[in-house]
Amino acid sequence: MKPAPFAYVRAGSVDHAVNVLREHGDEAKPLAGGQSLVPALNMRLARPSVLVDLNRVGGLDAIAEQNGSIAVGALARQSAVLRANLVRERCPLLTEALGLVGHVVTRNRGTVGGSIAHADAAAELPLALAALGGSIVTSRRVVAANDFFVAGFVTALEPDELLLSTRWPTCRAGEGSAFEEFTPRHGDFALAAAACVLRVENGLVAEARVAVNAVTQTPELVDTARLIGQAFDDEAAHEVGATAASMVDPPPNLHGSPAYRRSLVATLVARAVARAWERAAV
Ligand code: FAD
Repeated sequence: MKPAPFAYVRAGSVDHAVNVLREHGDEAKPLAGGQSLVPALNMRLARPSVLVDLNRVGGLDAIAEQNGSIAVGALARQSAVLRANLVRERCPLLTEALGLVGHVVTRNRGTVGGSIAHADAAAELPLALAALGGSIVTSRRVVAANDFFVAGFVTALEPDELLLSTRWPTCRAGEGSAFEEFTPRHGDFALAAAACVLRVENGLVAEARVAVNAVTQTPELVDTARLIGQAFDDEAAHEVGATAASMVDPPPNLHGSPAYRRSLVATLVARAVARAWERAAV
């Protein structure tokens, strides 16, 4: 298929892009790496009459540590962030999640901002950002990840609002994290996914965040009270997994029934908690 006709605008700056978006409202869409939008255009799942190409807007691809977070510019290519030592050392969950996103070729063009703005229910980066308690900086405000994802492919972004960067909290002393997913093949979208960020103090779990997606419309946080105040306990990890499984209602799909996907969530959560503990406790 070929896209429906559209006018192409190459934005020279954020202001230029925002003005075009403001002028055309819902009829305009920003283009980043094109790894989701272009297939959607070709399949006519998206029919904007104006495409605002962001790829030449300067200053949107920086990766820097700022105020306890890694700030990743909207146009930072997934492969560049995956290779960044700063991210590997200071926010290992982002590195781990990125390694599971698509393939080398899609990561070379795909951007971190595009994945977050696309908000696919099975995408790894929104889940990692939610598990970390990260946030999104737009051309208008800062939005916490848990307020940003509204539904599958729906975010809090207004039609004339651009995502400028994402903020990924850096790991603190005693902290460990882990990302787990199950996909039919490497590079496929997940059937179920879980991420855990856990902090250990004096040998006991002081804080634990667990989030799941792919079986939910948006990344969902799971109650982890069962883990707090004690050393790692495999039974407790499985209880948190069971809590996650009880709170999701996955639609059936080609690769698995709802019951199967719920059992996947339970297993992946328990595994993510166990691996995050191992990494925290070292
Ligand atoms: P684009 O496709 O250019 O845009 C995506 C959406 O975000 C569009 O609606 C666009 O308007 C909007 N947008 C982009 N940038 C901004 C911005 N700055 N402000 C506001 N809105 C913006 N993704 C995964 O998570 N996991 C996978 O396993 C996976 N596998 C893939 C396999 C293949 C074969 C392909 C082609 C893609 C796959 N993807 C996967 C998607 C890929 O990761 C995309 O890169 C990502 O979803 C979108 O990033 P992008 O830069 O290409 O954005």
